[in-house]
Amino acid sequence: MKQNKITIIGSGISGIAAAIRLAAKGHKVLVLEQNKVAGGKIGQIKHDGFRFDTGPSLFTLPKLVDDLLNIDNPHKGHYFNYKKLENTCRYFYEDGTIINAPSEASEFADEVAAKTTEPKDNVKEYLISAKKLYNATADIFIFNPLNRAFETAKRIAPSALRPLLKINPLRTMHGENSRWFKSDHVIQLFDRYATYNGSSPYLAPSVLKVISHLEHNTGAYFPEKGMYNIVEMLYQKAIGLGVEFRFGTEATGLIINNNNTISGIKTKKGDIKTDIVVSDIDVNTFYRHTGRELTKPRAVKKSSLSSSAIIFYWGMERTFPELDIHNILFSKDYKGEFDAIFHKRELFPDPTVYIFISSKVVKTDAPEGCENWFVMINVPSPENKFRKEHINTARQNVIEKIQKVLNINPEIHIRFEEVATPETIQTFTGSFKGALYGNNSNSIWSAFLRHKNRSSKYRNLFFTGGSVHPGGGIPLCLASAGIVEKEIERI
Ligand SMILES: Cc1cc2nc3c(=O)[nH]c(=O)nc-3n(C[C@H](O)[C@H](O)[C@H](O)COP(=O)(O)OP(=O)(O)OC[C@H]3O[C@@H](n4cnc5c(N)ncnc54)[C@H](O)[C@@H]3O)c2cc1C
Repeated sequence: MKQNKITIIGSGISGIAAAIRLAAKGHKVLVLEQNKVAGGKIGQIKHDGFRFDTGPSLFTLPKLVDDLLNIDNPHKGHYFNYKKLENTCRYFYEDGTIINAPSEASEFADEVAAKTTEPKDNVKEYLISAKKLYNATADIFIFNPLNRAFETAKRIAPSALRPLLKINPLRTMHGENSRWFKSDHVIQLFDRYATYNGSSPYLAPSVLKVISHLEHNTGAYFPEKGMYNIVEMLYQKAIGLGVEFRFGTEATGLIINNNNTISGIKTKKGDIKTDIVVSDIDVNTFYRHTGRELTKPRAVKKSSLSSSAIIFYWGMERTFPELDIHNILFSKDYKGEFDAIFHKRELFPDPTVYIFISSKVVKTDAPEGCENWFVMINVPSPENKFRKEHINTARQNVIEKIQKVLNINPEIHIRFEEVATPETIQTFTGSFKGALYGNNSNSIWSAFLRHKNRSSKYRNLFFTGGSVHPGGGIPLCLASAGIVEKEIERI
């Protein structure tokens, strides 16, 4: 195969993964990154003995990271250290119900049956159905380009595809969960998985129940040194394979040839000639900035964005044994919350609050006797930026929720505070309007409308990352890089 000079714009996890794959194939790979550090949405803050992962906190399918680290030596084994969590999450409801979710599916089913009116077998059978659906869909919808879906499906045994044919595509995730479960608490717990790609369970299609399979059947993991360590390990691997990173280098435009190819990238530091361009920039931003001269495809013109977030990073000066590493304090009105995010596009007064405390597992992430709280609510990707009073209202709503559900006044224990908003997420990661996962999956057509990994017009332009096929979240971003590698091989 011809060895090309490949330039990747953006050092998000998918950009680094693509760099590793392409460098391992012998290409000369350069990564341009506007920030001073790698990782994009996977970031970290350090302050006064506290360390916070600023973006993702939930880590599934770690094997995808191992595979990259071992790409040139499959026998080296596991040297990136992470562990399977005993409890994937702790769920709190306003009526005092607390459900722990052990990693082991049958223990989780026991816990649900003990805490709610839900028969244990309903949970077990639901998770088996989610697993079968994942096995039927993963190769078609995740690990290969969608325009080759038919080709991929032909390679799969017809019996393995049956779960996909059985699911009603017009039913929403909430409709599917309501069909399976009797308990409102359990329906809400499984509805929540729609938020893992920034969507609403009241709009997203039933097939997204596959997301729960990853957490409950394959397991939730956590890196021994925190989420940012995923980036550090992959970055080191890329360097080892000869990838060059240029930080503080924003790609400002493309050099486009008449024969529908891109021959270079413009930066404020000068033009860079290249054979192939891979963009890891949020695709909505790409067509408004670096690739603004290209015709906007339908996926961008008609984009319907995923949710964004307001996150408070609180250094807490005591520990809270009632909390685990991942905690959810559910809204009493889940439907109202999603209506506020996707229809009314406003803050909701009773938000579902997610508290992630990495120091429960990584002891060095907080000073002795303290904890590092990452406190997040989902919010719309706003048309206009949230003003200071909106952030203050959100903070007050969060504090009231914590007081009501946990009977703790967090405010008196905060030693350090930093806040992320849709605007800061956009500034730091280039994510359009701070959307966490590109476009949402609130329609049965979302998967098909997502931007492809290869430009249909420019032969040497490719796209990777959470805003293109197959979608957002670490595992899908890693799958995206794998598809780009295969597509480049096809040139
Ligand atoms: C708050 C939050 C919580 C999340 N939680 C989870 C979770 O628990 N689990 C999970 O799996 N996923 C989660 N995600 C999603 C996950 O983080 C993303 O899907 C993934 O990290 C996106 O990676 P990416 O490769 O698309 O690039 P991004 O992370 O979007 O990075 C793009 C990079 O491109 C750079 N860039 C942009 N424009 C230019 C330019 N013109 N020139 C040069 N560089 C440029 C940016 O600076 C950035 O570094 C979360 C995301 C956020 C923000």
